[in-house]
Amino acid sequence: MNNHNQIEQFIGECKVKGLSVTPQRLAIYKALVNDTSHPNPEKIYDTIKIDNPTITLATVYKNLETFEQNGLISMVTNLHKNVRYDPIVKQHHHIICVKCKKVVDLVDDELDSIKIPKDVLKNNAIIGHSVHFNVVCSECKNQNLKE
Ligand SMILES: [Zn+2]
Ligand SMILES: [Zn+2]
Repeated sequence: MNNHNQIEQFIGECKVKGLSVTPQRLAIYKALVNDTSHPNPEKIYDTIKIDNPTITLATVYKNLETFEQNGLISMVTNLHKNVRYDPIVKQHHHIICVKCKKVVDLVDDELDSIKIPKDVLKNNAIIGHSVHFNVVCSECKNQNLKE
């Protein structure tokens, strides 16, 4: 799906969910779609504040939360100090560098269909699963060698 279609779809889903599509909301969503790094709210704010001088970091936080609660975007992980967001809501997995905090998408059918352990099924309603591989990425590995 290209970015343009994704933005059209976002607008459509906002309407279905009764969320007004304000210029600020569009700017936030566009910034997320155009950034493959799984950015945190600060990074999105930095991207859009030049063109949206009245926007505040709090507004960015609040809208990302609203998007997430309405299933329009997803949250990557709470492993970082700072929440990271993802424009992809369809199930997928992540490779996360423990040093530079880089997050890379991973699509893998076998991970999608892993056997859910009994202990997880017991007493819990499962809403989904996502696998995170914690790695030291090649760039960070090379960095270490140079030091
Ligand atoms: Zn790294
Ligand atoms: Zn992702």
